[in-house]
Amino acid sequence: MNYRCPVCFFDELPYPPRDYHICPCCGTEFGNDDAEVSDSRLREIWITQGAKWFFGKRPEGWSPWHQLAESGNAFKFRASQPHRHQRFANLMREPNEFPRVLSM
Ligand SMILES: [Zn+2]
Repeated sequence: MNYRCPVCFFDELPYPPRDYHICPCCGTEFGNDDAEVSDSRLREIWITQGAKWFFGKRPEGWSPWHQLAESGNAFKFRASQPHRHQRFANLMREPNEFPRVLSM
């Protein structure tokens, strides 16, 4: 059974997001990093730093933007970061452009 990270929405965590496990995707240490900072704030930080894969081998074809978009939370993100992530905003505006944008 896999679990979803509440911060980056990576949904292949082999363990629940707690007990000091660390998300291999965004690097959040559950129970520590998220003890005093909200998931949405941690997500903002992760995205602002480039939404990079944290450690280990990332899944083939993995894309943070795709992952965020699939989570259904992309809209919130777009509202909070209107300028710095224009590419992602464009992706939200033109869903048909997915393949092109993701390959950039
Ligand atoms: Zn994560």
